[in-house]
Amino acid sequence: MGGDPIRHRGRCACGAVSYEASGLRDAALCSCETCRRASGAGAVAWVVADRDTLVVRGELGTFRSSDHAERRHCRRCGSQLFLLEDDEPGNVEIAAGTLDEPEAARPEAHIWTRGRPSWAAPGFAVREYEQDR
Ligand SMILES: [Zn+2]
Ligand SMILES: [Zn+2]
Repeated sequence: MGGDPIRHRGRCACGAVSYEASGLRDAALCSCETCRRASGAGAVAWVVADRDTLVVRGELGTFRSSDHAERRHCRRCGSQLFLLEDDEPGNVEIAAGTLDEPEAARPEAHIWTRGRPSWAAPGFAVREYEQDR
């Protein structure tokens, strides 16, 4: 595949699964119904990486989320980590929020906005707090 050789690391919320991968590209936010329900969030940021560079430590569960893709999650804490499209065997999509450095995956697009909650739209004005309120 070539591209970005940097090893990017990430892990699930509980730390039972960690991973590294290279070739990050084409980050996008997705607000499709499956992403929303699987994450509990209004949008999930996905970033494509080279599947043959992906190294995973820990036990993954598999969820066949459509007739053309499956998702992998930590079996212990349930964090959604990867999306594998059947017709893109060279790619793995990584849930960008699980990266140690999520700034490495800056979304360039927002897809499936049709069903997006208004509060998940960029620019939706809310009061911000640096930590909990
Ligand atoms: Zn976990
Ligand atoms: Zn989606």
